[in-house]
Amino acid sequence: MTSYKELGLVNTKDMFAKAVKGGYAIPAYNFNNMEQLQAIIQACVETKSPVILQVSSGARKYANKNLLKNMARGAVEYAKELGYEIPIVLHLDHGDSYELCVDCIESGFSSVMIDGSSLSYDENVALTKKVCDYAHSRADYVTVEGELGVLAGVEDDVVAEESHYTKPEEVQDFVSKTGVDSLAISIGTSHGRQKFKPEQCTRNADGVLIPPPLAFDILAEIEKKLPGFPIVLHGSSSVPIEYVKEIEEFGGKLSDSVGIPEDQLRKAAKSAVCKINIDSDGRLAMTAAIRKVLAQKPEEFDPRKYLGPARDELKKLYMHKNKEVLGSADRA
Ligand SMILES: [Zn+2]
Repeated sequence: MTSYKELGLVNTKDMFAKAVKGGYAIPAYNFNNMEQLQAIIQACVETKSPVILQVSSGARKYANKNLLKNMARGAVEYAKELGYEIPIVLHLDHGDSYELCVDCIESGFSSVMIDGSSLSYDENVALTKKVCDYAHSRADYVTVEGELGVLAGVEDDVVAEESHYTKPEEVQDFVSKTGVDSLAISIGTSHGRQKFKPEQCTRNADGVLIPPPLAFDILAEIEKKLPGFPIVLHGSSSVPIEYVKEIEEFGGKLSDSVGIPEDQLRKAAKSAVCKINIDSDGRLAMTAAIRKVLAQKPEEFDPRKYLGPARDELKKLYMHKNKEVLGSADRA
């Protein structure tokens, strides 16, 4: 059994309180390998941003749980070595069972999400409460994120055909019955790189898909019901067209990619939304960089020669997000 405190991590409690008050959002970046972790830590130390390192159950299977735990420990030490101490959370993304949440907490996670959004309301309440009761009874107090409403799209093991907006009339009851520390809501964001079907969008003069706007009216209603309570947005990649074009230029095929425009996320970050999940953009940045190197230097076979540029592109992307979108730079 490992407490997250032994790894040098923190839970989300203070981090979220400051973010809600300060009108910015904490970046939650997914990782499952060394280059992604290097990029996240370098970007967040250089921009002096707090950060949530996010691991899905799929990533845990991919990388091995002991290795991941020690990578998180290494990330804390690496950040210190880079010369500026930032608060770092290790968070389980889309935990789908009580057992998985407990296993993560016992191996050093400082925060977990229990995603009961596919269950009935009452089952979601019961499962979320069970995880909170365990996480909060520990001496180190592990924070818990719950979810109400369903996001469309594909993310590792999470697949939903259609989205259902969070019902504002349910949020107070859910939070008080479960004791969750933060709540993921559905207001039109979506998992993956195809966040909307083409028929849900309009096209600009260049034929690029323009998505429908987020439901800020629902967000405002939720904020009214839960003043100052930390809200989370999943599926918040912007799917930059430059990356999609670069990937396609060098042999990839990513037709009808569409994300959430950055100005909408900027607006959300200023509200009670205090955690914004970004995964697909990082995947696109790395894939674009790797495809470019391999296409332009077909003789290259040293993985550092393509994973290095991929890491640098990822770092650039994350610095941009912290500074220009989430407002988390200079908040650590
Ligand atoms: Zn998600």
